Amino acid sequence: MFDAKTTCIVVVGAQWGDEGKGKLVDVLAERADLVVRYQGGANAGHTVVIGEKQFILRQIPSGILHSGVTCLIGNGVVLEPENLFSELDSLHERGIDTTGRLFISDRAHLVLPYHKLLDAASEKSQQLGTTGRGIGPAYEDKYGRRGIRVVDLRRIECARMLLTERVRRANQLLQLMESTERANLDEHVAMLERLAPRLLPLAADAGLLLHRAVKANRRVLLEGAQGALLDVDHGTYPYVTSSNTTAGGAAVGAGIGPTAIDGGLGIVKAYTTSVGNGPLPTEAEAPHGERLRRLGGEFGAVTGRPRRCGWFDATVVRYATRVNGLTGLAVTKLDVLDTFAEIPIGTMYRLSGELCEEMPAEVEALGRVQPVYEVLSGWQQPTGETRKLADLPRQARAYLDRLEMLSGVPVRYVSVGTRRDQIIET
Ligand code: GDP
Repeated sequence: MFDAKTTCIVVVGAQWGDEGKGKLVDVLAERADLVVRYQGGANAGHTVVIGEKQFILRQIPSGILHSGVTCLIGNGVVLEPENLFSELDSLHERGIDTTGRLFISDRAHLVLPYHKLLDAASEKSQQLGTTGRGIGPAYEDKYGRRGIRVVDLRRIECARMLLTERVRRANQLLQLMESTERANLDEHVAMLERLAPRLLPLAADAGLLLHRAVKANRRVLLEGAQGALLDVDHGTYPYVTSSNTTAGGAAVGAGIGPTAIDGGLGIVKAYTTSVGNGPLPTEAEAPHGERLRRLGGEFGAVTGRPRRCGWFDATVVRYATRVNGLTGLAVTKLDVLDTFAEIPIGTMYRLSGELCEEMPAEVEALGRVQPVYEVLSGWQQPTGETRKLADLPRQARAYLDRLEMLSGVPVRYVSVGTRRDQIIET
């Protein structure tokens, strides 16, 4: 992906999240100088497998697993400090030295325990299928201009005053939502006082660091979390996350201008999954869905929730290609389809009897669409050891060609297993 003219690339999920971005970013980070997270929070959960070790990274960019890479957590992220430190500790325990390689934007907002209480209370009434980690309420506070940011910890007195007001407000809301839980101010203050000395040395003007790196032609990966269909503007609203997961969000959330970004790689599974309660037009019938789930290990990295599984939905990926301005696709988990005799692809929808090639804005309409399927022959042989496109079975190449044609963007990578080396560059 990187070349003399393409030095800053955004990597985004182009379905409903969990596409395997962690693995792709891990592979690409080998050639990068900086890896940046720009939105979301500890609800992300990238899984990276190196040798026998599996790393689940929720907030720290997966680039951290490469010793030469500097990682930034951008202003667009909502940071859960306790989780960050447990993630850092577990990396250190496993021999990954992060010293001097991780910086956090001083403009990033904090997710605090009262956000989690509010999340749990509102999930009870709204049933959106959130991860309950306080991400939504933290973004609500950010846009309500009552958030607490990393920079506020530099003046702990000021942070204490802000907390007094915020905890009081949270408790009023909890009462309104008929929750019996209450946030404890002293516990919040003690927590921030304990965490500040560890957090502040990592705090930096991340946008400035990134700007300088881009100017110096350093290779930058902007690592998205979740996927296009979970974007708060472009996703299946209201079954979405609270941030802009699409490429436009990368500029805002990393603190650089959009013209600094040279390319966009969309990660898609060779099939479709979704966790949460929204519509999933190409959801597979029971035995096939169950089989995809079992073969693909489709259970949430953070929550352990079983994911809903179905066939590749080209309408979704075409849409994601457009709203992200993608310049390439990485197709992951091709190996999961190795044993299927026939593989349907949803090419477009039928809505109220009419053919429909674009994503409807209304979630209710998306719930009613009938996918139009094209059924391709499976290859019924293992692909996990293939390293060249030409060595893939003919039917697998035909499948990828069809995905590429329907999505309107070239396939640049194909992932055929969880390991770092199980990747084909086209
Ligand atoms: P992310 O949030 O987009 O990084 O996705 P997750 O980490 O939730 O899910 C990806 C899962 O798929 C992880 O368990 C990966 O190890 C695994 N994975 C990634 N690529 C492949 C692949 O090509 N084949 C198989 N079988 N598993 C893969």
